[in-house]
Amino acid sequence: MNIERVTILGSTGSIGVQTLDIIRRHPDRFKVASLVAHSRWEQLAVQAREFGAESVVIGDERHYENLKAALADTTIKVMAGSEAINHVAESYRSDTVVNALVGYAGLHPTLLAIESGKRIALANKETLVVGGDIIMAAARRKGVEILPIDSEHSAIMQCLEGEKRKSIRNLIVTCSGGALRNHTLDELKDVTPEIALKHPQWSMGSKITIDSATLVNKGFEVIEARWLFDIEPERIKVVIHPQSIVHSMVEFTDGSVKAQLGNADMHTPISYALLYPERAAEAVEQFSILDYPTLTFAEVDRVKYPALDIAYECLKRGGTAACTMNGANEVAVAAFLGHKCGYLDIVGAIRYALDNATFTQNPTLDDYDRANEEARELARRYLKL
Ligand code: NAD
Ligand code: MG
Repeated sequence: MNIERVTILGSTGSIGVQTLDIIRRHPDRFKVASLVAHSRWEQLAVQAREFGAESVVIGDERHYENLKAALADTTIKVMAGSEAINHVAESYRSDTVVNALVGYAGLHPTLLAIESGKRIALANKETLVVGGDIIMAAARRKGVEILPIDSEHSAIMQCLEGEKRKSIRNLIVTCSGGALRNHTLDELKDVTPEIALKHPQWSMGSKITIDSATLVNKGFEVIEARWLFDIEPERIKVVIHPQSIVHSMVEFTDGSVKAQLGNADMHTPISYALLYPERAAEAVEQFSILDYPTLTFAEVDRVKYPALDIAYECLKRGGTAACTMNGANEVAVAAFLGHKCGYLDIVGAIRYALDNATFTQNPTLDDYDRANEEARELARRYLKL
């Protein structure tokens, strides 16, 4: 069997570290080509040594000298900055790129990796939220596979195995409800980052944990599903499922519904994406349905969670709308995490940006870059940053 060379963008994060756990278990299948992180250079150096990476990139150039010194006794090539991230994303030295970066920063590397014919294991959903049209068009043109790492999309992909497109009626995306699911509408205004960061089921990076609390994350997942599975937005439904055991479902025309279940452990979707179409024995806790005698489902409260409808609205408008939503959200979440704005200001900033941004119906990559910058500027103005 050929050894697959894997580059991980965001190797020091929640998904990155779990991706390395899977790679560690399959030395006969995978070899690490490049590892990329933003600022945690010590952790990056340790990872690079353990996995014998060929090269490493630190996004924040201020840490270049430290990283270089930490790896001075090795042959590992050390680089820094966003150009270097783009370089390793498209380098011939890897077969697969795992994109586990956060936010808009994921778009260009994904596109470059697709253009150079690599398989993509995609955790960075923002890539599809902002530029799903150009990403999917490029993947089709290049015959490149995009394998979702997001648990809901992994579940849907598993449910669709062996099925025909015309048999699909609806995709049903499940949603835990996030950290604030038991808060009333009135209590939301006083929510602090510390409260919103306590996700009941999943341990994840801070940005996605806040996005899960606002349901921006679920809105993004609807957009992600629209592009990955090429399905009309009206046929993508969201249901609250507080136990996070059913990771998503597909409803078929004959009345049958398929669901994928398991513990809330990202090792499983990561393993599925990396080893597809095979399944490997992973060191995850065995799932027992008897531990969950009561699985519950409910409608989403659209008043408490306006972000979900905003995401559908962006899909309906198309063009740069979702890119604007994403850019404003990134700025607002960072501000909220830094105690510079309130919880409700996150959706406020998104709304303001969407109402005031320049809209482009058929955007190029440059248009997306401009829309992203403008959305960030509008959010900063709204939040008085
Ligand atoms: P995280 O914050 O834990 O890790 C992010 C990683 O990317 C880190 O290694 C960081 O150094 C790096 N990074 C971020 N911005 C960068 C930049 N501009 N340049 C270089 N490196 C950069 O985040 P995470 O929770 O692992 O999430 C990663 C992506 O996966 C996000 O898009 C998230 O929505 C998605 N995702 C995560 C989970 C999860 O369980 N954590 C589940 C589904 C989807
Ligand atoms: Mg998800």
